[in-house]
This record gives sequence, structure tokens and C-alpha cells, in this order.
Amino acid sequence: MEKIIGIDLGTTNSCVAIVEGATPTVIPNRGGYKTTPSMVAVTEAGKRLVGHIAKRQAITNAENTVYAAKRLIGRKWNSPPVVAAKESAPYKVEEGPHDDVRIQLRDRSYSIPEISAMILQEMKIITEDYLGEKVEKAVVTVPAYFNDNQRQATRDAGLIAGLDVIRIINEPTAAALTYGFGKKIDRLVAVYDLGGGTFDISILEIGANEVFKVISTAGDTFLGGEDFDTRIMDWLVQGFADEQNVDLRKDRMALQRLKDAAEKAKMDLSVQSETEISLPFIISAGHNEALHLQRILRRETLEDLCEDLVSRTIDICSATLKEAGFETGDIEDIILVGGMTRMPKVQQRVAELFGREPCKGVHPDEVVALGASIQGTALLDEASEMLLLDVTPHTLGIMIVGGYSEELIPQNSTVPTARSKIFTTVRDNQTAVKILVLQGESERAEENELLGEFILTGLRRAAKGQVEIEVTFEINADGIVSVAAKDLETGQSQSINVTASSGLTEDEIRKMAEESQDYLVDRRMSEEFEAARQDTERIIRELDRMYEDVEKMVAGSEFGQEALSKARDIIARARQAIEEKDLEQLKNTIDTLKRTRKMFKGVLARS
Ligand code: AMP
Repeated sequence: MEKIIGIDLGTTNSCVAIVEGATPTVIPNRGGYKTTPSMVAVTEAGKRLVGHIAKRQAITNAENTVYAAKRLIGRKWNSPPVVAAKESAPYKVEEGPHDDVRIQLRDRSYSIPEISAMILQEMKIITEDYLGEKVEKAVVTVPAYFNDNQRQATRDAGLIAGLDVIRIINEPTAAALTYGFGKKIDRLVAVYDLGGGTFDISILEIGANEVFKVISTAGDTFLGGEDFDTRIMDWLVQGFADEQNVDLRKDRMALQRLKDAAEKAKMDLSVQSETEISLPFIISAGHNEALHLQRILRRETLEDLCEDLVSRTIDICSATLKEAGFETGDIEDIILVGGMTRMPKVQQRVAELFGREPCKGVHPDEVVALGASIQGTALLDEASEMLLLDVTPHTLGIMIVGGYSEELIPQNSTVPTARSKIFTTVRDNQTAVKILVLQGESERAEENELLGEFILTGLRRAAKGQVEIEVTFEINADGIVSVAAKDLETGQSQSINVTASSGLTEDEIRKMAEESQDYLVDRRMSEEFEAARQDTERIIRELDRMYEDVEKMVAGSEFGQEALSKARDIIARARQAIEEKDLEQLKNTIDTLKRTRKMFKGVLARS
């Protein structure tokens, strides 16, 4: 069967998994880590770095290192997360041509799907290195609470990365799949997912017949570990200002160091009761003097600083349970997902709410990618009986007179689903009608996310009210919206794409995909070159070491002199190939170099 991977494209870290045999397995990256930081950087020399190597240089290259791009994906320029990023991110956030967001790295600006595509591509490369073969297909996860624009942008990222994303599934649903996979159990479970940038809660029924049915889902796409880090940073900045009267926020490098230290302190406090934050030479005080930051943070202080953040997640859980008609005690298992669920306070509050301890033995960082790989395999395997019934997290509606939003597909409807609505013309000989598609729970249209607008044209000319058009709104299994329209009298139909209002155009996506393909080819070439260069230099070093002795051995032999001269030639050619970065030439010289080495060894063995 064709290989398919599951990718958890996280705010902070990403993870890739595959089902090998019948076992879902996480694929480690080259460094042996099972998760890869969702970070992208461009170096001064214009080199792209992704993952751990990007993270390692983040402090010294803060302006050209992107983290938490997932918070910005599919967002409009003036949306709160973008405004927040503009103020606090060390990288430069700019307005794009479609009311979207771009990030400037060195001399180029990148759309958010392009940044995410770099991470997806890295996950593809990690898999291909591990398997030694190509993979094209993937299932990618998104927070359940992602709206259509965010899903479309994620799908665009897949296209740019050159991946065939056959399905987008919700992270908590993926986690439940991993949990229930092969267990043959009937259970009502809650998945509490607190990651780096987002919070999700989902209630699911897992059936022994391999049916996974999501009953309800809710969340907040702007609540996660990064907010906890920010609280610690604010505390440090405030404390420093009180003590030294210096504002650390003015210094980008200091900010990046603070951010790293804050996250590390937060993690330490998941296992320790206090931790020391020490940042020597944090900022210059002028006159060749530097100031140092040193403070002790206690677990209780962290809990106080973040109390409202944890409470917000608990409130969302309670409200979701109530809306779905459940008591907290009805939930039979609680699955924790996301790095932030390692925080003891989070675990304690969740246990208190549900009146039972969350399940152990599910790895919060890996469970989502594993679920995506399970779903991918089931989708490709015709014999699979597994069925995933997810829901749409937001109400889909259209704008009606007075600026109101009229509901078409309610929140938590099982997807795929479709609903139709009949429109009639309001003017004589009206030939066009404009429809605004909205997503969100508010009655006021402006408070909801505008997914896009379309104009139905070419309507029959007739007296007002005489033309009836049936408009069908559909949400597919990826949670992505599409619209079709039909003239009920003539049966003539049009299918319309809701162009995401902050999305990329098809042309842009195609161009970005080509560039990303070029990058891949370049990268493969440069890796191949690098491997060949290392091989060659090793052999040359060996030859250099043997050279003098061989020279002595063949001193009296004309034949030997000739062989030595050939050896010098080939070494010179190899060096030149390295200098000129000529991979073909380098490959051509390696065999000859190896033969020369054998010959040298043979000569020395005779001595
Ligand atoms: P995820 O998006 O699931 O990778 O979650 C990443 C978030 O979890 C980041 O904000 C991390 O700082 C946080 N995190 C990871 N490990 C821990 C830990 N041991 N204690 C507290 N938070 C953690």
C-alpha cells in the first residue's frame, strides 16, 4: 500500500508519524528527536533553516527567525492575533496584498502558508530520510476550532510544500483515534488539548465498532503556552524595570533571551517547585557596563500569574459539556494533549473539573501525529472499517438585511454536511445577487469571520420574486466550505468557490510551490554535495598522510613516479571540484581517489 504520513503541524513543535505494519510510529528527525520546533529562519548568507537549527540560532538572529506562525495562519491583517504579533514578535510582520499577513526575512517577504509549508516540507524530508523512499501523501491536523480561512490556508501550505494532503483532521479527534485505536471499547471521552498557541476541548464517543464520533468541540485559538511564557516575561520585565529602571522591551535580543528563559522556567516548574532565571549581560547600561537579570520563580507565583489562563480553559470545558447536555461525571476518560498539559496546575484543575484523573500513558506530544497517520492509513485502505465523524466547530451563515447573520449550518453539525437555501430576486430583471458567507456564532454579521463573498450572475431576467435560486452550502470532511447555486426553474447551476478573503491566489500558490520544489532540489543537491565533499576530503587526508612514505618507496621507479603524478592530479581535480561546487565532477573523482588509496596502501604493505 502507498505510504501516507500524519503530520501534527504545531504552534511550537511539529511531529510526523507513519503506520508501519499495524503500528503507528513517530518518526525521529536526524537529531533523534521525535518533535521538531516549528521554527524557520534565514541566515545572513540567505540559507534557510528549519527546526532545531533554526531554534538554536534564534537569539542571535531574532529578526529573521519565525516562531508560532500558526497563530497567524489564515488571519486577517487587523485581527487581534496579528496586532499582538506586530507588537511583540521579534520578526517583522507586514501587511500582504489580500488583507493578509507577511513576514519579512532578510530581503524577502513570505506569506504564512509559505512559512508553514517549510515546516511541512521538513517533516516530509524527515520521513524520506528515515524510510529511504519518497512520500507524497499526508493527513495534516489543525486545532478543532480553526475556521475555514485557517483550514484553507493550512491546505495551501500543504500544496506549497508539494504534499498531497488527502485530509485535514482536528487535533483532538486525532488524539482520540490514537487512544481508541485497536482497543475495541465503547467510551465517552474528553480530549483536553492545550498546546503552544491554542486550546481545544472535544467530547467524543468511541465505539467498539471503530466509529469515532465527535459530539461537540470548542476552544480558543488564541490561548496557549505562549501566553504563559508572556506572563513570565512580563513579570521579569516589570521586576527589572522596578529594580533597574530599564525597559528590556526595547531590545529585541534581550526579548528573545527572555522568551527562551521564560519558557524554560515554565517547563522546569512542571517538575520543580522553584527555578532560578539567570540572564547575565541582558542589556547594556552604557559606559561599557552591562546589567544582569537574576530572579527566582516559584511554582505558586507562576500559578498565580497564569491563574486566569487556566480558568479560561476550564470555563470553556464546562460550557461545552453543558451545551452538549452532559454532566462532568458522564465523561469516562480524559485524554490530555499538548505540552502545556504537563503543568501540574493544569492537570489538577482538569481532574477537579471532571472528578477523575486524566489517562496516563498517552504521550501528549506524539498522540496527534499518530492519530493523523492512523486516519491516513484508514483512508487509503479500502478494507478499513474505521469511521471518523467530526463536527464543524462554527456556525455557517450568510449576511441578511440589517447586518444580521442567518444560520445555515449550526455549530457542531456532523461533517460532511450540506444545507440549501432558496433566494428570490428582489428587483425586476435582477441579474445578479451578492452573497456574503460568514462563520461564527454571533447574530451580528460583523462579529463573525467573513469567509468570502460571491456574486451569482447571469440570472434569468424576470419580474422580482420570480427567479428562485437554490444555494447549497457544503462543508466537506476537511471542514472546508464550498457553495453551489441552482436556478430552480431552468435547473441551470453554477458552482462557486468561496474565495477566502485573506487567502492566496491560485497563481501565487503555484509559484510558491514551484519555488519550494526548487528549494528541495537545491537542498538535496547540496546535501549530496556535502556528503561527497566530506568523503573526498577524508580520502585526501588519508592520501596526504601516506604520501611521503609512498614517495620514498617508489623513489627509483619511473612507473611509481607516474602513479604519484596521477595521484597529485586527481587530488588537484577533486579540490577544484570542491572549490567550484561541481557535484558531477566531484562524483567522478571519488572512484579514482579510492583506487589511488588502494594503490598507496598496497605500496606501503609491501614495505
Ligand atoms: P505543543 O504545541 O503541544 O507542542 O505544546 C507546546 C507548549 O507546551 C509550549 O508552550 C511549551 O512551552 C509547553 N510545554 C512543553 N513542555 C512543557 C512542560 N514540561 N511544562 C510546561 N509546559 C510545557
